Amino acid sequence: MTGLVIVGHGTRSAAGVDQFAALVERVRRGGDTGDVEGGFIELSRPPLTDAVGALVARGHRALVALPLVLTAAGHGKGDIPAAMAREQERHPGLTYRYGRPLGPHPLLHDALEQRIDAALAGADRADAAQPGADRADTWVALIGRGSTDPDANAEVAKVARLLWEGRGYAGVEPGFVSLAQPSVPAVLERLRRLGARRIVVAPYFLFAGVLPDRIVAQSAEFAAAHPDLDVRVAEVIGDCDALADLVRERYAEALGGDIRMNCDTCAYRVLMPGFADKVGRPQRPHDHPDDPVGHHHHHGHDHDHDHGSVAVVGGGPGPDDLITVRGKALLDAADVVVVDRLAPQGLLAGLRPDVLVVDAAKVPRGPSMAQEAINAALVLHARAGRRVVRLKGGDPYVFGRGHEEVQACAAAGVPVTVVPGVSSAIAAPALAGVPVTHRGVAHDVTVVSGHLPPGHPDSLVDWAALARARGTVVLLMAVDTIAKIASVLIEHGRAPETPVLAVQDAGQPDQLSLPARLDEIGALAAREEIRPPAVFVVGPVVALSTTGPTL
Ligand code: SAH
Repeated sequence: MTGLVIVGHGTRSAAGVDQFAALVERVRRGGDTGDVEGGFIELSRPPLTDAVGALVARGHRALVALPLVLTAAGHGKGDIPAAMAREQERHPGLTYRYGRPLGPHPLLHDALEQRIDAALAGADRADAAQPGADRADTWVALIGRGSTDPDANAEVAKVARLLWEGRGYAGVEPGFVSLAQPSVPAVLERLRRLGARRIVVAPYFLFAGVLPDRIVAQSAEFAAAHPDLDVRVAEVIGDCDALADLVRERYAEALGGDIRMNCDTCAYRVLMPGFADKVGRPQRPHDHPDDPVGHHHHHGHDHDHDHGSVAVVGGGPGPDDLITVRGKALLDAADVVVVDRLAPQGLLAGLRPDVLVVDAAKVPRGPSMAQEAINAALVLHARAGRRVVRLKGGDPYVFGRGHEEVQACAAAGVPVTVVPGVSSAIAAPALAGVPVTHRGVAHDVTVVSGHLPPGHPDSLVDWAALARARGTVVLLMAVDTIAKIASVLIEHGRAPETPVLAVQDAGQPDQLSLPARLDEIGALAAREEIRPPAVFVVGPVVALSTTGPTL
């Protein structure tokens, strides 16, 4: 049976080390997991290297490594895998499957509930026989370790919610003892202001340690300052059957291959406000003094030299094969690809598996801040020596904010190039059978952004001049404004019967083109629920369409 190595971080607390050892023993006794060893990556004995060494000595070449952490933050994501990588160097041929962090899990929530009940049933309580009655006026401060990783902190908030659901506490509020807010005093003050009279501080910790001790001290200080409040501190989860059961469950899950981490909200993969510098950052584990093997190995595809650059590449209107040859070559050589929603997504499937793909469409803040975060990510990756491709839809300089990115790179001293692309302004009409110019029909074509309606104070477009002109107008980003634009064009002189073609999802299998007269396009687009991305082509060239119905 596959051996199991349970990996702890290590603590200066002797009690914490004892609890860890007791848990390892409990898991071992419980069976179902094959050989079990436990070890720490720093501070405490036995070190991980002894635990792995013991398993290897007993003939194991494939292991499950289970990080004994409640949430995935730096230890679970970086330090423990790095320590395991050192073990693999030490024992060539050793493979391991990496288990998922323990929480959130109902077994843990039940254990927390029991610790809270035990605190409520403290000797000084006369009505301890009715814990149910107690709960309605008991507030819980669930205190996590706290991390610079927002995803880890969010897990604690999630556990607080899950602990509250259905258990009848007045409320459960998350707080953190280090690195994150609200702090222990802050969350206690918050509860006091909410009217709490009785608070149980529940450490969301596996074992005793310096940080749980600090929770006790800070809670005692708060209680002393507020003698009218009943503040109690629950025990940590500790060595117990529930925890051992959960370790076995995670072991089975690792072997089954169904490991899902929170990749969608991982600061190392997605841009999050204030954390742009983390995206794609290589893990640099802190030194582990107990580990005799050297510390500074670089793995994988990380360049520590200075050859970073950014190429702002126009990907064309959507189909994989409408990117330029130069753009594709740069893409094939990229270490990092920062991609827009409208960029050709199909090209991503062809990237090497070690290429970091950053989805710029997922930047969760307002458009201007998002652009700043994107610029920051481009500069940061290039400075780390990576070849960065900023893959955009169409042409980077046609309403693509491409030049802002170029300016940001240039200002930061990062080498940057632009690769033009086939703009949807030209391509979408073409893919729908409409030439934007034609001899004898249209000698000019104007590409216009419709993102601001006519009359908007920030608009830079001379709509009256466009109305007087005779040629082709291609409107981008105009789905919401087309009715207003059409009527202003008519008002200033375009014929109401001017043909218009709406082209939605050009180049995609579900491409849709919809012809209409200028005086009807607004109503038609609304009725047919035209949605972005779509362009509107206005002018006599529309009547030349070789495909689709014409007017
Ligand atoms: N730089 C891009 C345009 C960015 S603005 C380019 O040169 O194409 C985004 C707008 O482009 C969308 O709102 C839509 O009007 C248009 N667009 C982009 N891709 C499109 C597509 N496949 N089909 C129709 N319109 C598209």
